[in-house]
Formats: sequence, structure tokens, C-alpha cells
Amino acid sequence: MSDNGEAELDPAEAEAFRARCRAFLEAHATGITIDGPDPRSEKELAANKAFQQQLAAAGLAGLTYPAEYGGAGLTKAHDRIWREEYGKFPDMTTQLTISHGMCLPMLAEYGTHEQKSAFLADCIAARTVWCQMFSEPGAGSDVASLQTRATLDGDEWTINGQKVWTTLAHACDYGIIVARTDPEQVKHRGISMFIIDMRAPGVDIRAINQIDGGKHFNEIFFTDVKIPKDWLVGAYNEGWRLATAMLMYERVAIGTGSKSGVSTPTFKYLQGEAQRRGKLQDPAIRQSLMKLYSEETAKSLVALRTRAEMKAGKTPGPGGSLGKLHTAIIARLARTMTLEIVGADGLAWDASNADGDKHAKSVLRSFSANIAGGSDEIQKNIIGDRVLGLPRDIAVDIDVPFKDLKVGTQKSAG
Ligand SMILES: Cc1cc2nc3c(=O)[nH]c(=O)nc-3n(C[C@H](O)[C@H](O)[C@H](O)COP(=O)(O)OP(=O)(O)OC[C@H]3O[C@@H](n4cnc5c(N)ncnc54)[C@H](O)[C@@H]3O)c2cc1C
Repeated sequence: MSDNGEAELDPAEAEAFRARCRAFLEAHATGITIDGPDPRSEKELAANKAFQQQLAAAGLAGLTYPAEYGGAGLTKAHDRIWREEYGKFPDMTTQLTISHGMCLPMLAEYGTHEQKSAFLADCIAARTVWCQMFSEPGAGSDVASLQTRATLDGDEWTINGQKVWTTLAHACDYGIIVARTDPEQVKHRGISMFIIDMRAPGVDIRAINQIDGGKHFNEIFFTDVKIPKDWLVGAYNEGWRLATAMLMYERVAIGTGSKSGVSTPTFKYLQGEAQRRGKLQDPAIRQSLMKLYSEETAKSLVALRTRAEMKAGKTPGPGGSLGKLHTAIIARLARTMTLEIVGADGLAWDASNADGDKHAKSVLRSFSANIAGGSDEIQKNIIGDRVLGLPRDIAVDIDVPFKDLKVGTQKSAG
């Protein structure tokens, strides 16, 4: 047994499994190049799905999920070997972060046997892709202010309301949604979590046009959408506890990624760019590169600790916010450095050059790292109260029934 109680593999078995992973990765993890105009994220998602399907065909998808639900039924030790090997290759599953890094572990942990039998195998093999519907126009950092309603009518739930910023909703088959089920309760209590079919009648998905030309995420309107009674995930009115668990998976997925080991990809990329442009001897750029290297190394080490805790059977805790915050700090640093190194190429591009917009788009996209998955301020609040044990923010609304609060569109009610 290892320190964390995990059964170790016999060395010969471990080496054989490592060789199997490496052989698969050498054949299939060859990187993804998406040329041409948007929608790039959909094209990348299609390539990610194809990779995941090959992984499933090779018996290497969903390594630690039980075989009865379509997983490989292997151990956490196998999973660690896979992540170590995967870390040496280009990431082939970037657009599956929400589907496979958040929705899949939530379903596996909190879903009923019937839900897992119905949905897990298709998700593991990427025959279906899932999205996360938490944010609303009046409920982002404060998700518990959400107003989308779910009411039980006989054997079905009826959903009415609106979500926003839903990544890849237009390309997803199913989603996990949180909705208000009891407005008489205080805001954190009357919420439940559901599975929803993204193609059900009454689901209206509208693209949001982004400044970088992409249409990566959406607003979604729900008008009398019917879902089966038993698509409730977890217990009735227990949605806040599940939403918190899912947000922890989200922070781990963003801050820790699907790989293991120490890696410094942004440093390597910008170091190469500085070299190509003859700027590697500039002392200010060297200084910034070393800062970036240190941040990426520290982030990898925190990620290794988070993964070790998860392997020891712990559900991700508030420490996941450290990795998420680090990802945002690295994105901000990389933005400043990209502009220093590539100059005007980081601000504008020649539309006729398919590759020419790479730097400017990465500069534009970098701003989302401080917001997506919970803003930096929220991560700092979580780290302050729940990791460092500092006094919590004063909350004046925790004992007030939701229906009496002035939140979202209820602000205008009185
Ligand atoms: C690229 C991207 C993808 C996304 N994908 C999804 C998705 O798939 N599904 C989904 O549900 N959502 C998604 N989101 C939404 C995201 O979760 C929210 O944008 C985020 O939680 C912030 O909420 P908000 O935009 O409503 O900002 P607000 O909550 O209105 O915050 C505005 C500002 O106030 C600050 N603030 C708010 N409360 C506090 C506080 N208590 N203390 C200190 N400062 C505070 C914030 O830090 C921020 O600077 C995505 C967002 C982005 C950028």
C-alpha cells in the first residue's frame, strides 16, 4: 500500500500498463491543429470526441469507473500512470473539460444506479457530451440567487427560466442544471440538481458572439421543458451541496487538468516565441520568463497534491481554488508577456493569414481565465474563509426565504 492507502501495482504490471498507454498516445495523441475561421471550439470538440472514442475502443477511457457503467474498472494506480504518460503529449481533450472533468464525476458520485446505467457509458466514450448550467443573468458569483424554476407535475419536472454563459451548450447532448424547487426556503436550501436533454422541446439555445469572433458559449431559455421525475440528481432541495461539489470539480479540472507531473507549457511556448524573435537576451523578458516558469511549476506541484488527495478518496475540497487562482494568475502574466514579445501581432491580425490571429486571440481569450469557473475574488474569498480560516464575509440574507429576497429580476418586485 502507498502512503495514501492506494494499492500499488506489481512493478511488471505497472510497466506493461505504462507501455500500453505510451503506445496508444504515440499513435493517437498527435496534437490538434484547427485551421481556418471559427467555429474553432466545435471543430476542436469533434477532434476531442474522436480521440476519446479511440481511447474507449482501446479500453483506456474512464479508467477508474466501474466496468458495469462503461468504465475500464481499473485502479487509481493505473490512473496515475495514465496521467503521467498523458502529461508528455499534447492535450487531446481540452473541450471535454466540463463534460468529462465535471459532469462525469458528478454523475458517477451522486447519480442513482439507473442514471449511471443510462448515461455513464455513453459519456465515458464521448458518444454524448455534457454541459453545465449554473450561471444566470442575476446569479454568477452568487449562484444561490438563481431563479430558474423546477416544479413537479405528476411524473415530470417542468423547467422555466434562463441560463447564460453555458459553454458549448449548442454542441452538447445533455446538461446538468440547478433550479429553484422551493422558494419558501432560504436561498441555499430550496435548490435541486437535474439532468436535462439539450434537445428537448422548449430548450432554446442562442449563441453569444464573442469579441474574438468565436461563439463558444450561449444563453439558454427554458419554456415548459419537461424532464422525467427520476432525472433529479441527489436529493430534492439538496442541489446547493451538489452544486458546491461540482464547482470544486470545476476548479480542480481548470486548475489541475487531466495530466500529472510538473509541466510548464506556457513558459516553453513563450520562451520559443522570444527566441524566434531574438528577444531571449532581453533582461526584462528573461525575468518575466523565470516568473512564469516559477508560477507554472508551483501550480503543477499544487495540482499533484490535489490529485494525491483525490486518489486517497477525498472529494475535492476548497484547496482546488488555489489551482484555479493560479491558472488565472498565469493567464494574466502570459498576456503581458505575449504583448511584450510579439508586439503588434498581439493586438491585430491579417485576416488572410490562417495562423496570424493566434497571438491576438490568445490575448483576448486570456481575460476569461479570471472569470470562468468563478472569479479571482471569489477564489480568494474561498481560500480566505475555508483554507486559511479567516472570518467570513457578512451575509445579511442567509435566513431570509428566497421569495422575499431582492435578487435577479426579483429586485424590481417591491
Ligand atoms: C469563458 C467562460 C465560460 C463559462 N462557462 C460557463 C458554463 O459552462 N456554465 C455556467 O454555468 N457558467 C459559465 N460561465 C459563467 C461564470 O461562472 C460566471 O461568469 C462567473 O461565475 C462570474 O459571474 P458573473 O459573470 O455573473 O459576475 P458577477 O458575479 O456579477 O461578478 C462581477 C464582479 O464582482 C465581483 N464579485 C462578485 N461577488 C463578490 C464577492 N462576494 N466578493 C468580492 N468580489 C465579488 C466578481 O469577482 C467580479 O469581478 C462562464 C464564464 C466564462 C468567462
